[in-house]
Amino acid sequence: MTQHNEFGWNFDNSYARLPEMLYEITDPVQVRAPESVFFNKTLAASLGLNAENLENAEGMEVFGGNRIPEGALPIAQAYAGHQFGNFTMLGDGRAVLLGEQVTPSGERFDIQLKGSGRTPFSRGGDGRAPFGPMLREYIISEAMHGLGIPTSRSLAVVKTGEPVYRETALPGAVLTRVAASHLRVGTFEYVANWGTKEDLKALADYAIQRHFPEMEQQENRYLAFYEKVVERQASLIAKWQLVGFIHGVMNTDNMTISGETIDYGPCAFMDEYDPATVFSSIDVQGRYAYQNQPAIGQWNLARFAEALLSLFHTDQDQAVELAQEVNGKFAKMYRSYWLAGMREKLGIHNEEADDETLIEELLTIMKEHEADFTNTFRALTLDKPEETTMDKDEGFSGWYKRWQARLDRQNKSKTDVYELMKKSNPSVIPRNHRVEEAIEAAVSKEDYSVMERLLKVLSDPYAYTADQEAYTTLPEKCDRPYQTFCGT
Ligand code: AMP
Ligand code: MG
Repeated sequence: MTQHNEFGWNFDNSYARLPEMLYEITDPVQVRAPESVFFNKTLAASLGLNAENLENAEGMEVFGGNRIPEGALPIAQAYAGHQFGNFTMLGDGRAVLLGEQVTPSGERFDIQLKGSGRTPFSRGGDGRAPFGPMLREYIISEAMHGLGIPTSRSLAVVKTGEPVYRETALPGAVLTRVAASHLRVGTFEYVANWGTKEDLKALADYAIQRHFPEMEQQENRYLAFYEKVVERQASLIAKWQLVGFIHGVMNTDNMTISGETIDYGPCAFMDEYDPATVFSSIDVQGRYAYQNQPAIGQWNLARFAEALLSLFHTDQDQAVELAQEVNGKFAKMYRSYWLAGMREKLGIHNEEADDETLIEELLTIMKEHEADFTNTFRALTLDKPEETTMDKDEGFSGWYKRWQARLDRQNKSKTDVYELMKKSNPSVIPRNHRVEEAIEAAVSKEDYSVMERLLKVLSDPYAYTADQEAYTTLPEKCDRPYQTFCGT
């Protein structure tokens, strides 16, 4: 690859070649005193960037929003979305896309600044983000990557030297987010509602070219495209369920076409297993509770189908029929991804009809005992049932024997079972109290070492190393359940 400059910037701006309704050219708003606090050197290198040179002034200026890097063309993207079920116009109100970094191997990644100031889509907002929530997004997105779950990544956090006003004055920051793209279900809803059929076609063709190029020549490629997105989301949400991740705001504007997890606001991992778990303080109805995530995924994808309808068939009745048929496949796809993942979590290599029952039985016992989700599977992986907190329970010992018998009915050694379980059950997750502790040290004491250590442990959650053990302990039981807040 030709080194375009000493920093490795290699921008293309294909999104800005789409119909004009899709974006507004918008520079980030300058900040007073940028100070670089986190920089993801490994990620930078994988993008073809020169991490060493970026650690100096360029990185701080660019990732704070004060300098536009060579070749970039900053835009705020337009989109709409169903928020808690209600359709509304949105758009990047506090983010700008600098452009798409094309890596040495030819991959393309959006480089987006979040918290970079007001844009034409800001409505009443200030366009800014507090430091704490940007650190939270950095930690959780990198943890998701470590867990092997498709996700946007975090390249840098720069403090702005300016306060942002929420309930109190807080230090402001800009997060640099890297994603396969920022195409959302809400982007299509926006064009379907306010654009022409040509606009919609241009957007769909762009999405296909960017994420599913193998489909370009296919017959009825728009329906095939829709099915692919359904499949990616079924796979993604199954992965969330398998590690106890709760997104918290599964609005259609936060659901990507690429199949990556995006927008880490009030998300959190559950400790004790309870399917009804909700962390977000604004989700009063529990719409986005753990157990509802698959059904909400399918609901969002139905909104996506509605947006694409005019491309499926010239006859709208037939288009609806086709859309329903594909949307209807979601539940089965999801269940099969989930079941395959649960088999792996239990060390099961082959398939038996009763596996589903065996799995559901365990989950029922875990719920009764309020057993910790991650640590239960960790204890089973380490062959230490006595560490599950359920071992005195007759129901559990009966289940354990049936599970052992099931394992004996496959032609696999103990080592095979252990290896499969180890790579399917994380030893550590970003537990809420650990995440809070890291953010607190960074925000109140400018002590970044707590977060550095946490990030290191979370970068390889299947390693089962000794230094991970301290991160497996549970928070002290407190009277109030853990809550996350959307006011970011
Ligand atoms: P989110 O809940 O992060 O998915 O954001 C929903 C919408 O609110 C998006 O259009 C954001 O751009 C917008 N938004 C969130 N916070 C702000 C802010 N501080 N200023 C302007 N717009 C914002
Ligand atoms: Mg969002």
